[in-house]
Amino acid sequence: MNDVIIIGAGVAGLTAAIYARRSGLSVLVFDKNIYGGQLVNSNIIENYPGFDEISGVDLALNIYNQAIKQGVDIRLENVKEVFLDEPIKKIFTNKSEYEARAVIIANGVNRRKLKCKGEDEFRGRGVSYCATCDGNFFKDREVAIVGGGNTSLEESIFLSNVCKKVSLIYRGDQLKGESALIKSVESKENVDIIYNTVVSEICGVENVSHLMLKNLNTNEEYKLQVSGIFIAIGFEPNNSMFKPFIDINDNGYIISNEECKTNVDGVFVAGDTRSKSLRQIVTAESDGATAAVQAAKYLLK
Ligand SMILES: Cc1cc2nc3c(=O)[nH]c(=O)nc-3n(C[C@H](O)[C@H](O)[C@H](O)COP(=O)(O)OP(=O)(O)OC[C@H]3O[C@@H](n4cnc5c(N)ncnc54)[C@H](O)[C@@H]3O)c2cc1C
Repeated sequence: MNDVIIIGAGVAGLTAAIYARRSGLSVLVFDKNIYGGQLVNSNIIENYPGFDEISGVDLALNIYNQAIKQGVDIRLENVKEVFLDEPIKKIFTNKSEYEARAVIIANGVNRRKLKCKGEDEFRGRGVSYCATCDGNFFKDREVAIVGGGNTSLEESIFLSNVCKKVSLIYRGDQLKGESALIKSVESKENVDIIYNTVVSEICGVENVSHLMLKNLNTNEEYKLQVSGIFIAIGFEPNNSMFKPFIDINDNGYIISNEECKTNVDGVFVAGDTRSKSLRQIVTAESDGATAAVQAAKYLLK
């Protein structure tokens, strides 16, 4: 029997684990991939207070080491099913069944799909959802990136340092990200911003060879030769397994109060999966700390 089980070893889950251990609780953390979550896909982070800049991997490693030092048990297992309505919560992973008196959900979000022809067919053969992970496969080649927010801007900058040319395709007429990032992208000579345009098809034989683009103002369709396309059009949560127990909003995010409490006693939520206005490292950490402290208070009762 564990005091707390945390689902997800991203920055929210690891912070929750550190705070829970420091409150004297036994803590088990599951992650289906690797610790660090989205952090490991962030190249350079420039808005994390205390550091002028730090790589996502370094920050993730620091937080992981801190959690291990506190005695947190982190296991690479995929949580497949949960039963949360009784005081003793049951968690089923791909390996085993576990019990805990409190649960913190910190499972983050997934990249949103473009849902155009060719996307699934060429996934891993020119279609990617992570420039920092896959950008180097396209060294000195021409690529496209779809999106208009911070992630697509950060990834455009990363790709511009690796690839010959980057076409940033955005359906609107004004980029949505932070102005510092927009300026930085605009200053890159090998980044071409294509406004008011969508990708109607991703084409190729074995690998991606070109895209079919459609200008939304003129309806003109045309070909863009690229070896790869990066899709950065936002994120969506995957909270279907919690739905029978937990209140979830229309966009799929878990509803909680300021104390990160869900509608179920003993179940807390932290990080990007939570319904909130700003999804960043500092807010994920803040949620993790709050959720852990509230879990400790709940268990004390
Ligand atoms: C490219 C990029 C750049 C970014 N740059 C910045 C930046 O500069 N500054 C900033 O503040 N923020 C940045 N962000 C946002 C920031 O990284 C996130 O807000 C933050 O990392 C969210 O942390 P999290 O712990 O909530 O979720 P995540 O990091 O998504 O972690 C969730 C974890 O849960 C695991 N998981 C999911 N489902 C299960 C399951 N069923 N079983 C077990 N484990 C599961 C996942 O594998 C994952 O490891 C960036 C994000 C991206 C993608």
